[in-house]
Amino acid sequence: MRQPNDWRLMGQERYLQEVTLVHRQYRPANPDNDHDHCAFCKVKFMEADGSDTLSKGYSTPDGYYWVCENYFRDFVDMFEWEVVSEI
Ligand SMILES: [Zn+2]
Repeated sequence: MRQPNDWRLMGQERYLQEVTLVHRQYRPANPDNDHDHCAFCKVKFMEADGSDTLSKGYSTPDGYYWVCENYFRDFVDMFEWEVVSEI
């Protein structure tokens, strides 16, 4: 459960409060990049499935910020995300 002064919050509300998140397969926003990290826990997203990477999650429509499923569930109420699904 999260607390009001959750240690996992490090300013994400500045760019993730009340944004739309797209539930989708991971693909890099920048073609020079092959991975991104969750904005909260830093788990790695990659297109290929791996033992310690994720191949799908939630991202801002521009694909710039990614949130994993666990943190999505924990913070969806607080951040008031609007969710659209591509999957
Ligand atoms: Zn995460």
